Amino acid sequence: MKVEVIKADRLKPLPDSSSLGFGTIFTDHMFNMDYSPEKGWHNPRIEPYAPIMMDPATMVLHYGQAVFEGLKAYRTKKGSIQLFRPGENFKRLNRSCRLLCIPELDEYFLLDALKQLIAVEKNWVPAAPETSLYIRPTIIAMDPFLGVRASNTYRFYIILSPVGAYYAAGFNPVKILVTKEHVRAVRGGVGEAKTPGNYAASLYAGTSAHKLGYTQVLWLDGIEQKYIEEVGAMNIFFVIDDEIITPVLNGSILHGITRDSVIALAREWKYKMSERRISIDEVMDAHKSGKLKEIFGSGTAAVISPVGELKYGDKVIAVSDGKVGPMAGKFFKALTDIQYGREKDTMGWIEEVNI
Ligand SMILES: *Cc1c(COP(=O)(O)O)cnc(C)c1O
Repeated sequence: MKVEVIKADRLKPLPDSSSLGFGTIFTDHMFNMDYSPEKGWHNPRIEPYAPIMMDPATMVLHYGQAVFEGLKAYRTKKGSIQLFRPGENFKRLNRSCRLLCIPELDEYFLLDALKQLIAVEKNWVPAAPETSLYIRPTIIAMDPFLGVRASNTYRFYIILSPVGAYYAAGFNPVKILVTKEHVRAVRGGVGEAKTPGNYAASLYAGTSAHKLGYTQVLWLDGIEQKYIEEVGAMNIFFVIDDEIITPVLNGSILHGITRDSVIALAREWKYKMSERRISIDEVMDAHKSGKLKEIFGSGTAAVISPVGELKYGDKVIAVSDGKVGPMAGKFFKALTDIQYGREKDTMGWIEEVNI
């Protein structure tokens, strides 16, 4: 399939790359493609960024049949543009599609289309330190119909947003609240999918945590409310003694690509790296005996997010004295050095965009 390109007549002014926030500015063009049972995925096109006209009965608005992805394009010092493990994002998109009964797409075609879109928008990839172009592929159910069933028609699109340094004021450890009242996902549900309903369902607990002065919620499993799953919309790691532990993928945890990359680096560096069940009690006990060294989250937006404080019931514990632990710092540096091309990519994670 050939991608049709329709250029915008007028281009927006480029933002000052030293003062970018997150997710508020969008580029001049977007990628669009449609699905119908007769034609399959068809009409791939890069066209001017524009609102999507839809009938008020459009199924995605009522039944939430939608999936998305999140990845970034990075500007290297020599001016080239590169992506970090983008094939993994499109693989995961297809996994999310299967869970949401959305027709799957050709991962290689999508990667090629994304590269074409970024080439058109190359001036939008910022160059200031730790800035990047955030990429949001999305699929939504388009039938105008009331009644619960899978839609017959869909829209796939990719929008791009230049984003600033996540830690503009330096690495900032977050405070997290362990909730027993709410769960994010249950086994057999859609916790493994990047689907909007999961985020809507997390808002109540998140808002309650914010009211108590906490940044994120630490989610326990949906069955026993005993085993740790994720933190906010990130995967989570613990350093206890000389062991690095992350919850094993159990069906309700999102398969984070940053998570997978941290595990791969830890193994490469010959650390004791465990993917296993870990209970909140084990973490509290490790803290009591002085063995809990670090806790950090992992995700595309922040890369690594150190945890400085954790509240569970009426117990509040300081982690790494509220500072950034050495492991969190080491993974953050290694990952961002590869992403920005400051270090050689010995893992085969980088895809260059021809511009
Ligand atoms: C996207 C996401 C992550 C992190 O995935 P990355 O591929 O590392 O960005 C973790 N948990 C949830 C719930 C997510 O939505």
